[in-house]
Amino acid sequence: MKYTNITVAGSGVLGSQIAYQTAFKGFNVTVYDINEEALERAQDRIINLTQRYQEDLGASEEEVNSAYNRISFFYDLSKAVSHADLLIEAIPEVVQIKTDFYKELGKVAPEKTIFATNSSTLLPSQFAEATGRPEKFLALHFANEIRKNNTAEIMKHQQTDMKVFNEVIEFAKAIGMVAIPLYKEQPGYILNTLLGPFLAAATYLVMKGISDPETVDKTWMAATGAPIGPFGAYDVIGFTTPYNALIEKAKTGDKETVKVAKWLKTEFIDKGKLGRESGEGFYKYPHPHYMEPDFLKN
Ligand code: NAD
Repeated sequence: MKYTNITVAGSGVLGSQIAYQTAFKGFNVTVYDINEEALERAQDRIINLTQRYQEDLGASEEEVNSAYNRISFFYDLSKAVSHADLLIEAIPEVVQIKTDFYKELGKVAPEKTIFATNSSTLLPSQFAEATGRPEKFLALHFANEIRKNNTAEIMKHQQTDMKVFNEVIEFAKAIGMVAIPLYKEQPGYILNTLLGPFLAAATYLVMKGISDPETVDKTWMAATGAPIGPFGAYDVIGFTTPYNALIEKAKTGDKETVKVAKWLKTEFIDKGKLGRESGEGFYKYPHPHYMEPDFLKN
């Protein structure tokens, strides 16, 4: 592996997870955030993760502590990147914040440093010029709870150097991810390109009164052998992210999307039904109906 020192910029929900997973796999990690308070919050998040790694993955106390000790914390950007082979950016999903960040980063980072954005909805070409090194820039997109949902989508933009693309794929594998390369830019990457229309079609069938969630799931599961249907998947993902995506789409004036967003809000979110994590969504947990042995029977 060509990379040794990894800097993670932004230590919120995803940044703290990326930093800890990377350290857990033996890399030296530097966390960068805007000030001391943000870094203190990051430390708390990461200490919580050490417990998750012990409980969920059976990691030993020594393993989780040595991973923690491989992480250092800086709010001075030039210090935070002074040795970085790769910088993974996980700062807020706001174009202006990211653009300003990349302009500054491009000035202070060593020439060797590769930049990768974890953005879910923005494309790397939007920031390529701001980085000052478009050929060393691409997207590296993780899923929430990366220790369990271990996909990493690695997406080129037109100017990304193929060598850099391949190195980042190897890096993703080295930190325990299933590496998913995308050779061209695609909003939503592979996963959400598939998932968005899939969930939208399922919702359409129910909202139009054509069917009900259990029948839709049953159809999908019986016909394809899949262990879960679209509404079961909704519960796993949770309602907040799809709701936020719908609200964004509704801004384009799409009336159907507005209806679906309202339905999710009034029938589920407002009633505290947020999916599996909250104990109820389309199904009740921990024993959702679709997992029962007779679910696929008539
Ligand atoms: P978050 O709000 O939890 O964390 C953002 C962090 O960035 C905070 O610690 C904040 O202090 C810091 N920050 C703010 N301005 C900064 C700046 N100028 N420079 C450096 N740090 C700054 O956000 P998040 O949910 O972790 O999302 C971060 C990125 O990851 C976004 O691009 C998002 O699309 C992507 N992402 C999020 C998820 C998710 O499920 N939350 C999943 C995949 C990808």
